[in-house]
Amino acid sequence: MIAENIYEVKEKIKRKCAEVNRDISEIKLIAVSKNFGIEEIEEAFNEGVIDFGENRAQELDIKFSRLGNKITWHFIGNLQRNKVRFVVNSSDYIHSVDSLLIATEINKRAGLINKIQKVLLQVNTTNEETKSGLTDYNEIKDLANYCMDFPNIELIGLMTIGPLTDDINLIRKSFSQLRKIKNRLNADNININELSMGMTSDYEIAIEEGSTMLRIGSAIFGQRDYSTSWKEKL
Ligand SMILES: *Cc1c(COP(=O)(O)O)cnc(C)c1O
Repeated sequence: MIAENIYEVKEKIKRKCAEVNRDISEIKLIAVSKNFGIEEIEEAFNEGVIDFGENRAQELDIKFSRLGNKITWHFIGNLQRNKVRFVVNSSDYIHSVDSLLIATEINKRAGLINKIQKVLLQVNTTNEETKSGLTDYNEIKDLANYCMDFPNIELIGLMTIGPLTDDINLIRKSFSQLRKIKNRLNADNININELSMGMTSDYEIAIEEGSTMLRIGSAIFGQRDYSTSWKEKL
């Protein structure tokens, strides 16, 4: 099942890239494995997927201890300061940085283990109050500049979560806004390239709007079952 799903997702990505004249090699497929177990991850890994995304520090920590460095780990969830240590230890990329407090802690923890931590800033492009992420351009720029100055952080891009809606125009607007913010930062001498946007329901639109990192969960692993805790699946 997972193998077929991956094949299909990759085919759709390929087709969309051909349609909008994009080079497929500039798009990273991240399999979001939250709430799935080690076996499912192994199965996807055996199909050639090496990037996996997790949104809980503790869940990532356990999966990292079982599977280790053969996988490229992406942390995509809300980050609390007291969990930063674990996430820096396991993640190749942290997509969800949205405060100076967290960035400062990441820099400190990465320094302690001699690591340069790759990060993206999370932007709230939908103005939903319940969502994490920065909204104001100057705040984004200020935090980006701090990250550029931190010796143990490498700022590589921006991340957003599209709106939960069927309205394609609203989804497109959210993604094109992220791209415009990146272009504006580039013009302000902040040299970042990555756009982490697009999930199961909207990744084809994200490709059209310039995404370089797709975070895809249910299209690969199936519906997440929240009736049992992730702890019981590990
Ligand atoms: C769960 C999650 C995804 C993947 O969602 P699907 O709809 O299952 O593809 C992507 N990004 C973030 C931040 C998530 O929490």
